[in-house]
Amino acid sequence: MPTETFEFQVEARQLLQMMIHSIYSNKDVFLRELVSNASDALDKLRLEALRDDALGADVSDLHIELEADRPNRTLTVRDNGIGMSHDEVVKLIGTIANSGTAAFLKDLKEARDAGDGAAAEGLIGQFGVGFYSSFMVADEVVLLTRRAGEDRGTRWTSTGEGTYTIETVDEAPQGTTVTLRLKPEDSEDQLHDYTSPWKIREIVKRYSDFITWPVRMVPEPVGVGSGEGDEDGDTAREPETINSMKALWARSRDEVTDDEYHELYKHISHDWIAPLETIRLQAEGTFEYQALLFVPSHAPQDLFVQGYKRGIQLYVKRVFIMDDCEALMPSYLRFVKGVVDAQDLSLNVSREILQQDRQIQLMHRRLAKKVLSAVKDMMSGDPERYATFWREFGRVVKEGLLSDFENRDAILGVASFATTHDKEEPATLRQYVERMKDGQEHIYYLTGESREAIENSPHMEAFRAKGVEVLLLTDPVDEVWVEAEPEFDGKKLRSVAKGEVDLGTEEEKKEAATERENRQQEYADLLSWMTERLSGTVKDVRLSSRLTVSPACIVSDTHDVTPALESMYRAMGQ
Ligand code: ADP
Ligand code: MG
Repeated sequence: MPTETFEFQVEARQLLQMMIHSIYSNKDVFLRELVSNASDALDKLRLEALRDDALGADVSDLHIELEADRPNRTLTVRDNGIGMSHDEVVKLIGTIANSGTAAFLKDLKEARDAGDGAAAEGLIGQFGVGFYSSFMVADEVVLLTRRAGEDRGTRWTSTGEGTYTIETVDEAPQGTTVTLRLKPEDSEDQLHDYTSPWKIREIVKRYSDFITWPVRMVPEPVGVGSGEGDEDGDTAREPETINSMKALWARSRDEVTDDEYHELYKHISHDWIAPLETIRLQAEGTFEYQALLFVPSHAPQDLFVQGYKRGIQLYVKRVFIMDDCEALMPSYLRFVKGVVDAQDLSLNVSREILQQDRQIQLMHRRLAKKVLSAVKDMMSGDPERYATFWREFGRVVKEGLLSDFENRDAILGVASFATTHDKEEPATLRQYVERMKDGQEHIYYLTGESREAIENSPHMEAFRAKGVEVLLLTDPVDEVWVEAEPEFDGKKLRSVAKGEVDLGTEEEKKEAATERENRQQEYADLLSWMTERLSGTVKDVRLSSRLTVSPACIVSDTHDVTPALESMYRAMGQ
């Protein structure tokens, strides 16, 4: 078979360069990535075999195997999972499909160009690179793979420097074998000797213990290596399973360490940093299920991109059924990752059926409430962590105010907003209410493009003069949910740009009303002249008590759309 040489896609090349020059301080994670890919491949094969009787793949002993060869300094990770076709190898290994990657590389380049080393470090720490992390420890990687159901296999080879080669091979075991030729520099360093059984065991225990497939270590041939040699050397030893395979969500809370939870999170989210919050739920009774949910500590790059892969992994009685199960979590909580393991669902459930399944709908409701209540607890128990949560995800969560009326109060309860009270610290509605002036009935806000634009609005003048706090809403979604005039603690959220503003105590209001009355008469002629002149442009011209500096401003009626919303609708072509 001829050997074809291909060039890596530009982004892939940049990423590989970063791997070769080891941007991550902890190189051990390469093994986690390879084991994680192998585990995914086994999940996929089992599912495909379930759905397609004609696949003809052997699924009797699905497992992952690790084999180290000290004299030749290689480490092999093998799985008998789904494998890849020739074209899949080119597509999946030669290019980077993840839309977040391009954004990541751009941000990273900007941070570096700006000489901001700390920002660059922060970005790198958040970004997982999967298969390419092999090049942190290897100077050559060979991947041999055969897709389940196909006859021939594919061998992919690369040193990570710009190109890779591919050839078709007649004989290949089903699944994927990745062989790393380890870099020489690591051999001197005991801590990074990836041919040491001790080291391999330690990494698997640390990062991959919960993997639901057996991870087996092939013993070294006798006479090689040190210390761990078997006494009776001539019996061929069996591979040994080195992970416990225990489903963390099924174990009791005090049996599992935070680190173990975090590794599971990293496995299912492909994130490289620990989650902000871990949420457990055990539902007993007629419909039994367990859930282990994670709130990431940073928003993914593509959270607002259409087609963002959202959702939770669904298991049925410990068997993996599907990734990204949208039916289990509302869209405004799409950043939540985790596992739901149900006792009574069919293994053959499909996405279409799930949407209508009553049990799934019940789980969906319960899980959403559980997440919101966890955020509420965070708010009171750990304000700093809550602040991170809201900074990263507040914009998404507010979408729930449009779609989830059942939880609207709960969502408002965990929301916070920029405010005139403090330039830096956002305010919760609870804090706002506690600071309300005597006689103030409503919670005031103004929407706009930026804090600055809002603060310069003439609508703000009277509020500033009276020292009344105003919430400054700058996210596009804010324009929409405030339309429903939601209430918090019995107080309506009111725009300072709409209708009459009546600030002050009862007496002040009365006084102002009489004053306005008198002045209205005094200026009656001018006002009707102006109304006439401006007819078709404005509805009415009134004297205002809301201005202290500006001569005039445009006000919407209470139920009119705001100018910003008007321009948003216009932009949307409505
Ligand atoms: P990710 O796992 O985040 O998708 P990776 O870089 O780890 O990214 O892997 C890229 C893709 O290559 C995977 O999504 C998968 O489709 C394919 N792949 C990697 N390893 C294997 C494997 N052992 N078996 C089958 N497919 C694999
Ligand atoms: Mg991966």
